[in-house]
Amino acid sequence: MAVCGSCGREGTRVRTIFEINGKPLPVPLDECPGCKPGSFEPRWWTERGAMGWEAYPNQYKARRMPDGSVGYFATDELRADTEAKIARESEDDRRARENAIARKRQAVAGARRSLTQGEQESIIAKYREQEAKGIEERKARLDAMAVGLQLPN
Ligand SMILES: [Zn+2]
Repeated sequence: MAVCGSCGREGTRVRTIFEINGKPLPVPLDECPGCKPGSFEPRWWTERGAMGWEAYPNQYKARRMPDGSVGYFATDELRADTEAKIARESEDDRRARENAIARKRQAVAGARRSLTQGEQESIIAKYREQEAKGIEERKARLDAMAVGLQLPN
């Protein structure tokens, strides 16, 4: 333990200042959280966080472990609450799911709409064109066979 030269308190956090802004002080100055609290980090800054069984002792059961130490185990209630929190859908998840459903519905609706007159005529024209081409190829093949030629496939 150190003793603060300014206020006389005893503690582990005493700081001695020899200069301020590069100017040496005529006499070194002590300060501690008792006399200069604004000069030190708050207590929570340096202290460890509380464990779950320290913060919420009624949500844990203490059990003696085989090595003699004490173990803390979450109650079934805390475990169920925690699992529910993990499994619950977040706002982002919900929005993403709704967007995915809306996109799927739009895609299905787009696929099911009936063809326009122009689209029908275009498809029929393409089909007739391919059919005519196929008939010509078959005729050419038959003509070639008639004179004893074999055309490549
Ligand atoms: Zn002090």
